[in-house]
Amino acid sequence: MSQPVVIIGTGLAGLSTANQLVKTHSVPVILIDKAASIGGNSIKASSGINGAHTTIQEEQHITDSPELFLKDTVKSAKGKGSEPLMDKLSKDSHLAIEWLQNEFDLKLDLLAQLGGHSVPRTHRSSGKLPPGFEIVSTLSKYLKGLAETKPDLVKIQLDSKVTEVIVDAERQVTGVQYQDKEGETHTIYTSHVVFCSGGFGFSKDMLKRYAP
Ligand SMILES: Cc1cc2nc3c(=O)[nH]c(=O)nc-3n(C[C@H](O)[C@H](O)[C@H](O)COP(=O)(O)OP(=O)(O)OC[C@H]3O[C@@H](n4cnc5c(N)ncnc54)[C@H](O)[C@@H]3O)c2cc1C
Repeated sequence: MSQPVVIIGTGLAGLSTANQLVKTHSVPVILIDKAASIGGNSIKASSGINGAHTTIQEEQHITDSPELFLKDTVKSAKGKGSEPLMDKLSKDSHLAIEWLQNEFDLKLDLLAQLGGHSVPRTHRSSGKLPPGFEIVSTLSKYLKGLAETKPDLVKIQLDSKVTEVIVDAERQVTGVQYQDKEGETHTIYTSHVVFCSGGFGFSKDMLKRYAP
């Protein structure tokens, strides 16, 4: 079996990454989170997921476009944030909604117009579950099942705080270190690490330094 991909963070970004790698490519993953449970901030999301020009909008005769979504986002950001990322968000988030609907059977069929938006484009499912909880529990269910039946394919390590990315003399990543809840340090050797630890997109310094 190939080296695992270590995914740091079990919010929506981490769970999406893990599902894509495992489901589509059968690549082994190790999901690590410093928290005691899965979901990060994603599990708290209470309004829904934004997307422009989605099939649900079309069905409900709402005219929207990536250009309008971008305009609204830039206006609300008031000079903060990164415009190329806002452009990416505006153009591609309908694909994220369709992925959740097609791969996981999530309805995401209710639309709301929240502050800053010119049209209704925040999607959640009709029913009682808050959207973050619904999405996180659906995406983690498949991974939790595999973690029990195929531990070589999926491992989920909670209460594990990543403290270091190990790099060799050629600046190649060779592993990560994390601390368990007793404060003991462990190392996982791999050259594949994906950061899904939240907050990155907001920090212009980190974007400039690590992903110019
Ligand atoms: C109350 C609330 C309501 C919200 N409502 C909405 C909404 O309705 N719609 C919307 O679009 N957005 C909403 N948001 C924002 C949204 O939740 C976040 O933008 C989104 O969850 C980010 O997802 P993520 O996967 O990048 O990060 P997160 O879900 O935050 O996941 C990051 C994970 O990384 C882990 N981590 C961090 N550092 C380390 C480390 N060193 N080692 C190991 N693990 C680490 C964290 O413990 C966490 O579990 C809301 C946020 C909050 C707080």
